[in-house]
Amino acid sequence: MTVDTHPPLPAMAETNKEGCLVFAGIPLPLLAQRIGRTPFFAYSRQLLTARIEQLRQALPSDVHLSYAIKANPMPAVVQHLSHLVDGFDVASAGEMKVALDTPMPVENVSFAGPGKRLEEVSQAISAGVLLNVESENELKAVAAEGTRLGIKPRVALRVNPGFEVKSSGLRMGGGAKPFGIDAEQMPEILDSIKAMNVRFEGFQIFSGSQILDASSLRQAQQETADLAIELSKVAPGDVRVVNIGGGFGIPYFPGERALDLEAVGVGLSSVIPRIRAGLANAKIVVELGRYIVGEAGIYVCRVVDRKDSRDKTYLVTDGGLHHHLAASGNLGQVIRRNFPVAVGNRMTSEQNETVDVVGCLCTPIDVLARQVRLPACQVGDFIVIFQSGAYGATGSPVNFLSHPEPVEVLV
Ligand SMILES: *Cc1c(COP(=O)(O)O)cnc(C)c1O
Repeated sequence: MTVDTHPPLPAMAETNKEGCLVFAGIPLPLLAQRIGRTPFFAYSRQLLTARIEQLRQALPSDVHLSYAIKANPMPAVVQHLSHLVDGFDVASAGEMKVALDTPMPVENVSFAGPGKRLEEVSQAISAGVLLNVESENELKAVAAEGTRLGIKPRVALRVNPGFEVKSSGLRMGGGAKPFGIDAEQMPEILDSIKAMNVRFEGFQIFSGSQILDASSLRQAQQETADLAIELSKVAPGDVRVVNIGGGFGIPYFPGERALDLEAVGVGLSSVIPRIRAGLANAKIVVELGRYIVGEAGIYVCRVVDRKDSRDKTYLVTDGGLHHHLAASGNLGQVIRRNFPVAVGNRMTSEQNETVDVVGCLCTPIDVLARQVRLPACQVGDFIVIFQSGAYGATGSPVNFLSHPEPVEVLV
């Protein structure tokens, strides 16, 4: 039987002398008592703030940092980040509401995503949000809705570049895609904009996600810059914004190493002047979701049963894939691997058992950790899954099997 080496626990895995995880200064059992029930997601204000500080240190100072809300739309998280980042990117009218409920100026909110419904387009135009347009039909619909409302919609065109990012976790550009307008169709569409009732502001070029290799990122950023400069030559007006995407990844699995943020910053420092040379007035935006929130959150559930079946030991928890689809391996992973996991009240105990940690759903895919070394566990113990701040609750089928939703807290 193969046993995963335990993934390295993140630096935030501080423990007290009772061997309990201390999260955001609070011992886990006390935090759980305060919340009143498991399972829950807890996000740390201090870790969010620290992450933004690291980004500000590493990235060139004239880069605008935008938060892609879909990674974690919890209102308190978005509110906290509204004081720390320069803009928000939303992907639905629901996320737009969360963004507009914060002090973030509407000028710095953009709305991307395929399949925007007409009501959403109408709401976004009325709010004054920048619409990142994903197709020719959408562009026409935005212009027509603007005419109907008597408002000139702010639009940027999302471009599906011809290149692909190497070692990207999720490919979002290159080849045929439902996102954005193919780069080769852009000249014609840019020309058609001149006769339309829209205010053209610029481009969004997002080419990948969950990238851990700084040199791949650098190459993507260079190609993105070149594409933006080329397209701006046929733009119908002044290019005010170039959104060069993001895609910064975080380590989840054994053998993965944290992104070298300093190297990313150095790479960007060489790309920015190229964009500036071609587009003196453009605001250059980097938009990040996972990198900002992913490492600032934990998911906590409790062991409700422990059983041996033939050659395996199962820890059955009150959590599962209905809260944390990503940790179960069913959100985009090709090969299932374990997120970093620990027993939150036995952090310093010897890992002397090999177990499967499963959820409470009647399906064999409801696995939170497979063949993982953990300290011997009892009913009532806390199972903690790290790296859970992004695409956790929001990426999960919470209604599946009609169990209670997880609680989310910002501490
Ligand atoms: C999802 C998304 C992001 C955020 O991606 P992360 O991998 O979470 O950083 C940024 N921009 C766009 C357009 C997206 O769709």
